[in-house]
Amino acid sequence: MRIGIFSDVHSNLEALERVLEFLRTKGVTQYLCCGDIVGYGPDPSACIERVRALRGTVVAGNHDYGVQGKLPIVGFNAAAQEALVWTMRQLGERDREYLDSLPLTEACDPFLLVHASPSAPEQWEYIFMLREAEEELQYFTADICLVGHSHCPFAVERRNNSPARLLHHDGFELRPDAKYLLNVGSVGQPRDGDRRACCLVYDTASMEMFFHRIEYDIEAVQRKILSAGLPRFLADRLAVGR
Ligand code: ZN
Repeated sequence: MRIGIFSDVHSNLEALERVLEFLRTKGVTQYLCCGDIVGYGPDPSACIERVRALRGTVVAGNHDYGVQGKLPIVGFNAAAQEALVWTMRQLGERDREYLDSLPLTEACDPFLLVHASPSAPEQWEYIFMLREAEEELQYFTADICLVGHSHCPFAVERRNNSPARLLHHDGFELRPDAKYLLNVGSVGQPRDGDRRACCLVYDTASMEMFFHRIEYDIEAVQRKILSAGLPRFLADRLAVGR
């Protein structure tokens, strides 16, 4: 079986549709999503609808919380605040119910899903460095923890009791004697300098995990952002992936 893994869609429907199309061509039949379906982008309801229809395992991100008033909006940067207020006005009752149903963490053997960090999911801390990732490895018992939040994909592996290491390639085989922390990157607003949408495919038979980058119509999303009256910065950053 193949599992499609993604995160941080951020109301970017064009990116999400291309990613889901790609995952289907890869034979994916099960989906895992690490949160932040909404925020920043121009299509919150449509993105919620697409993700809900997958019937996968989905956890809540800080933007999903912010838009429900579960998290004070003042904690977000100015552009994010503006987008959250705008998003609140776009959501219907059904959208809100779905977002409200999302847990902070969810196990889906051999995975644990959490948006920010396994040590304190409700603190919304970022894991950027190998040192931070290594620290986090002690806070979960699952073989593989999947996170999002920073929009920068990475994979960290620790075998037995040796030091954790970064895996510097797009694909790798998961070893039964190792523990992993994977940041699955972002579909709708990548920030690692690569503007293409990010997702992963996991093959349960071969235990192979692959990162993929998918082109989508960025200009179309930028036009929608501007015509919705959302901050221009949110349109501009999509073109550079920062
Ligand atoms: Zn995010």
